[in-house]
Amino acid sequence: MTPQQVLTDFFGYSKFRGNQAEVIAAILGGKDTIALMPTGAGKSVCFQVPAMVLPGLTLVISPLIALMKDQVDALNGLGIPAAFINSTQSVSEQRFVSEQVLQGKVKLLYVSPERLFSGSNGWNGFLEKAKLSLVAVDEAHCVSQWGHDFRPEYLKIGMLREAFSDVPFLALTATADPQTRRDIAEKLALKDPLWFISSFDRPNISYQVALRSDSFQKLTDFLANRSSDSGIIYCLSRKSVEETAGKLAGLGYSALPYHAGLDKEVRDRHQDLFIKDEVKIMVATIAFGMGIDKSNVRFVVHMNMPQSIESYYQETGRAGRDGLPSEALLFYSYGDSVTLSRMVENSDNPAYIEIAKTKLAKMVQFCQLNSCRRRFLLSYFGEKPREDCGNCDVCFREGKRIDATLPAQMFLSAVVRLGEGFGMGHVILVLRGSESAKVQEAHKSLSVYGIGKSQSEAYWKNLGSTLIREGYMESAGEPYPVLTLTSLARQKLKSKEKIFLALEMEGFKTSASGEER
Ligand code: ADP
Ligand code: ZN
Repeated sequence: MTPQQVLTDFFGYSKFRGNQAEVIAAILGGKDTIALMPTGAGKSVCFQVPAMVLPGLTLVISPLIALMKDQVDALNGLGIPAAFINSTQSVSEQRFVSEQVLQGKVKLLYVSPERLFSGSNGWNGFLEKAKLSLVAVDEAHCVSQWGHDFRPEYLKIGMLREAFSDVPFLALTATADPQTRRDIAEKLALKDPLWFISSFDRPNISYQVALRSDSFQKLTDFLANRSSDSGIIYCLSRKSVEETAGKLAGLGYSALPYHAGLDKEVRDRHQDLFIKDEVKIMVATIAFGMGIDKSNVRFVVHMNMPQSIESYYQETGRAGRDGLPSEALLFYSYGDSVTLSRMVENSDNPAYIEIAKTKLAKMVQFCQLNSCRRRFLLSYFGEKPREDCGNCDVCFREGKRIDATLPAQMFLSAVVRLGEGFGMGHVILVLRGSESAKVQEAHKSLSVYGIGKSQSEAYWKNLGSTLIREGYMESAGEPYPVLTLTSLARQKLKSKEKIFLALEMEGFKTSASGEER
């Protein structure tokens, strides 16, 4: 079968995405390959498809034991013979799977590095008999002390590489700074590998950093406009998880706690409710989120600064996997860096302390930035974006124009429908579908009545004043000022041209993508 046939027949997808086709072609050409792709880009397909094309076994080395069963079940559901061997199984279960592998009944075998390299001479004999065709090393950054997730067992993969010199190896990761990249190639002993690097940009995520004074108040202000959205709020300690979740629930928010101190059964239930959208907000320590595949997470809030850019990028990356506009909000205070650097200094490994401090310094720099945050993130990961993003708080603050076409059209149409005879307050009541007695019955039957109810009053006020400031409307008249459209606004409405505005309020977000003019 060709890769394309496997993709359509087994996975039901019509075409490859991003670098998938190139990565697969490289592997099938027998080359060692390194694929760096952001979370959600579709790394699994890069080895699952070749596994069905190649004659022998594909070995998948992954540290995420907790996810293996789900992944294998999903593959079996697609008609792909996959299995796993890890420490959660009994000896007889493990033996059963080995038998199946040796009989050629398994195309993909998932294994943890600990299991793979246990025992005296490891698995070499077994893998030879199993006719190894491909080795996929998932979460390959675990091989580097520079990664945020170092696993010493990963260093032994290099020996496997030596033992199976004619089998291609594929290393995959979602996060790697340039130092980690070098480590992946070197420590896995890859032979002249081909590199495929996708951009790490997540343009639909808006990055924002706020000072932590009054953070709970700022948090509830932030949440007030997002009552129907799903989100994750990360706290540093179990105690602060409990407190924050409790306070939010007390205010009527749909929020539950998640941390390693809760019974497994409770944790699983909370996670399940969140995944099923029955609970909107998960207040959690960083124990939460690894491998969670929930596409409609609209926001990720950090109540404290993470330890590194990698962690921050990975945690915020859980927002907006569906590609829709999403937000990452981080509360920062100078105290965070002090606390974190004390934690780091407690380690008895000097090499670790040095690396961790360098990473921490980068994170502090990110928080204190006076220039585009996305540019900083991307350049940390080795990219060189040429322009500011227009979708982070610094860009907003600097008055970068963002695409506000949709909300601006709503506002301007409401003014027109109201006969250009009402003031800002009244227009906003109508937009937000207010039941107030001030809104006449006739206005309640207008097409614009309630079309803006998903946004707050403050949001519309900000938009309205910006429309005035930028010459789309005038507010004048006695005894009270009424809004009227300028010729600029009429022309824009008629031509359906895009409207870019310099919105100033911190955290302002439109439903549009935030392109720049
Ligand atoms: P990653 O491991 O990079 O985070 P996954 O391998 O879990 O990403 O894939 C993310 C999502 O994208 C999954 O739901 C997967 O089924 C889907 N996906 C992957 N490749 C394709 C494709 N070519 N076409 C459509 N959907 C895809
Ligand atoms: Zn920016």
